[in-house]
Amino acid sequence: MQATEIGRRGFILILSSPSGAGKTTLTRAVAGDPRWGLDLSISVTTRQRRPSEIDGKHYNFIDREAFDALRAADNLLEWAEVHGNFYGTPRRPVEKVLGAGRDMIFDIDYQGTRQVRAKLTQDVVTVFILPPSLAELRQRLERRAEDSSETIEKRLANARVEIQRWSEYDYVIVNDDLDDAFRSLEGILVAERLKRERRTGLTSFVEGLLAEPN
Ligand code: 5GP
Repeated sequence: MQATEIGRRGFILILSSPSGAGKTTLTRAVAGDPRWGLDLSISVTTRQRRPSEIDGKHYNFIDREAFDALRAADNLLEWAEVHGNFYGTPRRPVEKVLGAGRDMIFDIDYQGTRQVRAKLTQDVVTVFILPPSLAELRQRLERRAEDSSETIEKRLANARVEIQRWSEYDYVIVNDDLDDAFRSLEGILVAERLKRERRTGLTSFVEGLLAEPN
């Protein structure tokens, strides 16, 4: 057997953090880098589109009725209410990507992470992104200037609740510097892709190695 015949199962990489900690930037950066060959899960949401967002690219923006219909038909792998809006992960794209042995990256909250973990016990890798401080988090939300001050206050209040979920995650990155955080994320990807339990063909490969004459 050739080393190239060693394969592996795909996994889901989940990034969670309070709003403004840089998770969306990180998710988009790694998903947009063809070296990593990662598919990005596009969620559905009932939230209002921000001016910089594109329907179908950042989210599929739908109304509450359409959201409830997806949920009722069991078309969502997970869903949650976050900051008064509904968000969910369409199930079919995930099944397709994992079925093809590829990896998929999710930008979802802790409630969704719990549901995904309960459904797919294996092959789920979770990363929590922390801001360097709450003051920095506030500054980032204000700098973004895409949300009303009322929304920003709501998100900051929720940040404390979300931060308390950090210990449910496999990895924790403090996003002090975006480049450093990106490198840490790449390190996680490399290590998870080398995990023995997820790989196929290793036994035959090693048997082949051992069958070679000295
Ligand atoms: P935002 O409105 O800032 O885009 O996202 C608000 C929160 O909702 C973020 O924590 C984000 O990770 C989370 N979120 C986005 N999509 C989903 C989803 O499909 N499911 C869940 N559970 N959370 C999501």
